[in-house]
Formats: sequence, C-alpha cells, structure tokens
Amino acid sequence: MSLQEIQDRIAAEEARAGRAQGETRLIAVSKVQPDARVEAVLEQGHRIFGENKVQEAAGKWPDFKERFDGVELHLLGPLQTNKTKQAMALFDVIHSLDRPKLAQKLAALSQELGHCPDLFIQINTGKEAQKAGVMPDEADAFIAECRELDLPVIGLMCIPPAEEEPSLHFALLAKIAKRNELEGLSMGMSGDFERAIAQGATHIRVGSAIFGARDYG
Ligand SMILES: *Cc1c(COP(=O)(O)O)cnc(C)c1O
Repeated sequence: MSLQEIQDRIAAEEARAGRAQGETRLIAVSKVQPDARVEAVLEQGHRIFGENKVQEAAGKWPDFKERFDGVELHLLGPLQTNKTKQAMALFDVIHSLDRPKLAQKLAALSQELGHCPDLFIQINTGKEAQKAGVMPDEADAFIAECRELDLPVIGLMCIPPAEEEPSLHFALLAKIAKRNELEGLSMGMSGDFERAIAQGATHIRVGSAIFGARDYG
C-alpha cells in the first residue's frame, strides 16, 4: 500500500471517529526493510520513522539523517540498559520504558547529557509472560516513579496479544493514561491502526502496510 493510501485511511478514520484531522502521528516502521524502500518513503516527504533495535538503527539512520532534514526517530523495541546512552543519542522518542532499572539509567544519563528523549511507558496489557511491559496493575506506581525521577514521560504504549481483539487492549491503555493524565497513546499497527485511532491513538506504528512484508531471510 502506498504512503498516501495509509494517510488517506488515517484521515478517514479521524473523521469517522470525530477526531481532529492530522491529530494522529504516523510512525513508519522501517525495521528490517531494505534501504531503498526507506529512502523512497523519505523522498515522498515522510519524516517520522520507527526502529526496533538500537544497533540496526545506528547502522542506517546517521546517513539518512545527514541526507534528509527533520527526521524524527522512534525506538519501539526493548532497550537494554547498556545501550541506553547510544539510544539517547540516536532517538527522539523511546516507546519501551518498561522497568525501574531503565528509568534510573535514563534519569542518570539525562543529568549527565542535559537532555532526554520523550518517553512512552510500555504496558503489558495482555499480561503475557514473554512480552515486555509493566503489568496494568503496576502502571500507576511506575508512572509515579518515573515522574519522581523527572523523566519526560508523554504517554503509554502497548502491543496487544496477537490472538485477542486489540480494541479491548487499546481501551485499557487509554483508561490507564487518562487516570494518570497522560496524553500520548502509542498503539495500532498495520492490521489494526484504524481501531487504535477510534480509541484515541496519538501515535500509530505502521510497518508492513507501508513498506511491504519484512524479509527476515
Ligand atoms: C514491527 C513493529 C510494528 C509494525 O508492525 P507492522 O505489523 O509491520 O505494522 C509496530 N510496533 C512495534 C513495537 C513493532 O515491533
């Protein structure tokens, strides 16, 4: 699907849901995609991209950033504590803050570097053992802890379980955000971004629908 088609679908859903046009930020998830496909989307004027791995992003984005002005890069995947400093240099926004140790590391490095990317706290809305994220019933306490550390938390992020209706998870995420007075909602991917917009997503993360299937071979 073309970038334009995705943008049209976003605009249509914003209208249908009674939301302001352009309120949803589209993060084009470029992980694993060949550089030529990413470059084509940059050429079309898109500037907001998401990656899953620090190492992979470090390999391709410094060059793209030199050639294209105004790139905004989002880290969507798990962040190891020992890669935090590198991630803070490379990414404008981190969506995977999910544990106290990482919060403390981000706070310490913020002091040292004098800046910190905007942060989303990842919530494990499906309580899946293998998935990252703070458990829903621990979210309020963790958000408070991050605020005490003066971290720039702007919202919450979730990845619903593959086999469940995502809308229920989006609604839960929105509810936790609202009671904690957080505005950002990072939710919705290629298969469900319209349902996420209906539930108030501010940031949708769309990969394969824009770039085509990822070839992990
Ligand atoms: C890969 C990925 C996406 C994009 O997935 P698509 O189904 O290709 O749109 C979104 N969010 C996260 C956290 C991802 O890892």
